[in-house]
Amino acid sequence: RKRNGKNGTRLFDDEIVDIARKRLEIEQCIEQALREDWFEAYLQPIVELGTGRIAGFEALMRLRHPEKGVLVPDEIVGVAEENGAIGKVGDVIFEKAIRGLSAVSQVSGMGDCYLAVNFSPLQFDAALPSRLAAILLEHGVTASRIVVEITEAVLMLDNPAVRHVLDALGELGCRIALDDFGTGYSSLSYLNRFPVDIVKVDQSFVRSIGTQEAEITRKSRTLIEGITMISHQMGCIVVAEGIETEHQLQMLTEIGLDFGQGYLFSEPLPLSSLMARLPHLAAR
Ligand code: C2E
Ligand code: CA
Ligand code: CA
Ligand code: CA
Repeated sequence: RKRNGKNGTRLFDDEIVDIARKRLEIEQCIEQALREDWFEAYLQPIVELGTGRIAGFEALMRLRHPEKGVLVPDEIVGVAEENGAIGKVGDVIFEKAIRGLSAVSQVSGMGDCYLAVNFSPLQFDAALPSRLAAILLEHGVTASRIVVEITEAVLMLDNPAVRHVLDALGELGCRIALDDFGTGYSSLSYLNRFPVDIVKVDQSFVRSIGTQEAEITRKSRTLIEGITMISHQMGCIVVAEGIETEHQLQMLTEIGLDFGQGYLFSEPLPLSSLMARLPHLAAR
């Protein structure tokens, strides 16, 4: 916004004050949510495309505020990263998600499903593997059922500390998923340089399948085919995100992706709703 003229300057300043106020509000919200136990790990089923079987769940952070309603990660994660609360918040989400995994594991046929949890670069401190190990031990969950989802932003740090944490998580038995694949700058080389087990094709590719223009669908399909072929050759499992239509499901299954998630199967659900719907979902 231009700063010329008295009104222009006034507006500009007001905007900054607004942003600062909103930020402070969210910071206080996060602190209170930690104290009052308002954080939840919603779970979204991840389906094996060939069979329709539920293979696992992704944990997605939510903050249930008594007055403001449910806040989503886009409103929380950035602020928590900046003020340093992300470590604590991440541990809380991880523990909630593990509780969720234990609960769904009781449902028949769900005994070996996996749990994927998102981690931001700032959570990659040297003590992370031992903190996760302690939580897993406490709940009697084996690390082989855990997938740590990271984005290129983690790998871009490419420092010995990050590599050390990744190796330690691997030694623990966790698998590593590379999220939002294909959107960054040098995704392909990361498959070579880091111990990645799972590749998650970014939603934007899936979304452009079945848009009005056949040309866009054709190009997206070609990109997904290429990513899938290379990932498989590197020994990775390939997961598609954001599947909303039968058409997308059919094309992704045809291409040979292993797993998929999206509103077509289920949106992310609080544990109680998931438990109620799981028998129906599992039989889909
Ligand atoms: P992501 O890891 O790429 O997660 C996928 C996002 O797509 C989620 O948004 C999910 O609710 C949404 N989604 C799932 N299926 C569909 C679909 O069919 N259509 C559409 N349009 N969207 C779908 P959400 O829950 O708002 O999370 C946004 C991002 O926040 C995540 O992107 C992830 O990067 C981050 N995030 C979520 N939970 C955590 C967490 O516990 N810790 C950290 N550090 N980041 C998290
Ligand atoms: Ca993710
Ligand atoms: Ca993603
Ligand atoms: Ca994302």
